[in-house]
Amino acid sequence: MIVEGNLLLPDGAQQVKLALGWLRLEGGRIKEVHLGPCPHEADAGGPQALISPGFIDTHLHMPQFDIIGAHGLDLLDWLDQVTFLAETRWANADYAQAMSERVLDQLLAHGTTSFLGYGTIHHDGTRRALDACRKRQMRAVVGQVLIDQEAPESMLNEREASLAQTEALLQDFRDGVDGRVSVAVTPRFAITCSAQLMAQAAELAQRYDAHIQTHLAEMKPELEAVAALHGGPHYTGVYQRAGLLGQRTVLGHCIYLSDEELEILAQTGAVAAHCPTANSFLRSGTMNRARLLSAGVRLSVGSDIGGGYERSMVRSARAMIEATFHAGTAPMSAGAAWWHITAGNAGAMGWSSVGSLQEGFEADVLVIEPDVPWLDAYNPLGMLMFGWDDRWLRQTIVAGAVAFDAAV
Ligand SMILES: [Zn+2]
Repeated sequence: MIVEGNLLLPDGAQQVKLALGWLRLEGGRIKEVHLGPCPHEADAGGPQALISPGFIDTHLHMPQFDIIGAHGLDLLDWLDQVTFLAETRWANADYAQAMSERVLDQLLAHGTTSFLGYGTIHHDGTRRALDACRKRQMRAVVGQVLIDQEAPESMLNEREASLAQTEALLQDFRDGVDGRVSVAVTPRFAITCSAQLMAQAAELAQRYDAHIQTHLAEMKPELEAVAALHGGPHYTGVYQRAGLLGQRTVLGHCIYLSDEELEILAQTGAVAAHCPTANSFLRSGTMNRARLLSAGVRLSVGSDIGGGYERSMVRSARAMIEATFHAGTAPMSAGAAWWHITAGNAGAMGWSSVGSLQEGFEADVLVIEPDVPWLDAYNPLGMLMFGWDDRWLRQTIVAGAVAFDAAV
């Protein structure tokens, strides 16, 4: 398959550039990358098209796609009154499967080809979600949610049983063995997890070299609740004591952290997933990206659906730029934001063969045909990001095969 257009290519640290060129996709990989006009008849794209690596989302909740827009509640009320209710529906594995199929179709229709996401506490439901990812050949890491305290009865899972279930998933879904899908060890957050559960979860993740995902310091009342349940000196210390922090740990939000906590994150190499739309929707606050970066903390970006309301990573990236305005720090460039939702998020996940249009990389490619004269714009990547229209996405190619086609 030949794809032609303006290639979004890496350009030094945390930046991208555009160059007219073409790709040859073969056997699920990007076989060739060429600059200059395409000498062949292209199968997709054209001289006016943008060809981007597939977008990567580092924080979303699969069972929450149907509760986007539950407006007017604070985080803890939003969890109690809306979210837990939606998640209990995954007790029915058939429901979980049907919903997963819908969710993945929506992601592909918005250009997201890879993600790190939460299932629910339900083993069969989460397994069906993983199966659905595998069927679509998406590069996905999904976890069965671990909760053993401070939640309604219907959201609790017994500690040993849920760890054993997670281990069964870890054994059945190994990235690269028979697909691109793997399992994240997923303690939901410190309030709903006992110290013992978190310590055992960390040990399990270490044994399988698995990703860990959880939430950290999203809202002020949450900090008080964590301190009351787990003691001091701070929230990050709770995860550190459990052994949950490392290079493969992705922590959603990370808004309210002390200098000492940032130092721990930097030292352990844990990733702070910035979720700007959820932070704004739930009025949690604004992450000061510049502060985390200067402390040496690794950063990614996520949609955090359904607290976040954007399925599109381009619009999540736009919100990330806007967060730099609200924080009163140097504004992030559009090029840096495009980098974050592609190569940047791939790096945060530790993935070395997606997120970039390079020879030998997995062929997750987007064909985007804007109906505006973007190539003549003052800032072409800025115009596309701030004026983004999902209808511009013509094709989403996953592992070399067309997984979404706007014309179909
Ligand atoms: Zn979340």
